[in-house]
Amino acid sequence: MAMESMWINAPAKINIGLDVVGRREDGYHEVRMIMQSIRLFDRLTLNRKKDPGVRLTTNLKFLPTDENNLIVKSAKMLMKEFNLEGGLNINLEKRIPVAAGMAGGSTDAASTMIAINQMYDLNLSNSQLMKRAAKIGADIPYCIMKGTALAEGIGEKLSTVPKLPNCTVLIVKPRIHVSTKEVYSKLQIDENTVHPDINSMIEAMKKKDLEELCSNLGNVLETVTINMYPEIQDIKDFMMENGALGSLMSGSGPTVFGIFTDKDVATKTKEAALAKFEKSFAFVTDLYR
Ligand code: ATP
Repeated sequence: MAMESMWINAPAKINIGLDVVGRREDGYHEVRMIMQSIRLFDRLTLNRKKDPGVRLTTNLKFLPTDENNLIVKSAKMLMKEFNLEGGLNINLEKRIPVAAGMAGGSTDAASTMIAINQMYDLNLSNSQLMKRAAKIGADIPYCIMKGTALAEGIGEKLSTVPKLPNCTVLIVKPRIHVSTKEVYSKLQIDENTVHPDINSMIEAMKKKDLEELCSNLGNVLETVTINMYPEIQDIKDFMMENGALGSLMSGSGPTVFGIFTDKDVATKTKEAALAKFEKSFAFVTDLYR
């Protein structure tokens, strides 16, 4: 039955592994990434309205509320294709740090599409939604799928991989804004590049061996972003000195995550990180499956 309103939680992602394997002629990079959703959410509330158009409000005043916001872009795309009547008021309660390497904008767009599909009884399957999502952004199909996945191509080719063993994740984001575009444009791939071993990571996941997985964590973009912001390396070292099994920068950064087996240790490390890394954002969470 068609619905007048609904709310939906949009989970953030981290990259357990990120490799760049080539560059396409159109300038996009070919990647191999292991994606994992975590229980850190933006909250979207959608209400139908009689007059046409999409009106977005948000608690973060600096975010765009026009078509530059992926929520508005994805909503308008579906409303146009299916000739949907009236319009939508959408409120975004932003909790995922912005420009942080956690796919905040992409997950908002994915949740917008999932919500519209339900509210208007479009009956689109996940793969039909994902096909449309890829037109707006390479990471959005994954954000519809969620959980643990291997993303290839420019990020839009998805396959399932074994789930990660249970663990606690500590997120620490220093007060730095990183442009994904800038990081990719500065990346040099040559014979000296040390590539993360994504296949070994998948093998460790098959064996449910968290320790082996953590010893293989790798993100080829770290070389660029850590060079620009050495504080990222300091946070990684801090995580390892404080009991993390492994620690890595997510996406193009600057977010760093640490994998812990003990939630109390992760929580203590969070408090210590907030004291040490001024004005950083820190959050203890677990995996979203
Ligand atoms: P990724 O991990 O995919 O590189 P990110 O987490 O680094 O993404 P986002 O938080 O998605 O980056 O935001 C990057 C830019 O996108 C912001 O500066 C903002 O102007 C724009 N943007 C568009 N829509 C949104 C949205 N719904 N939430 C946050 N930012 C958005």
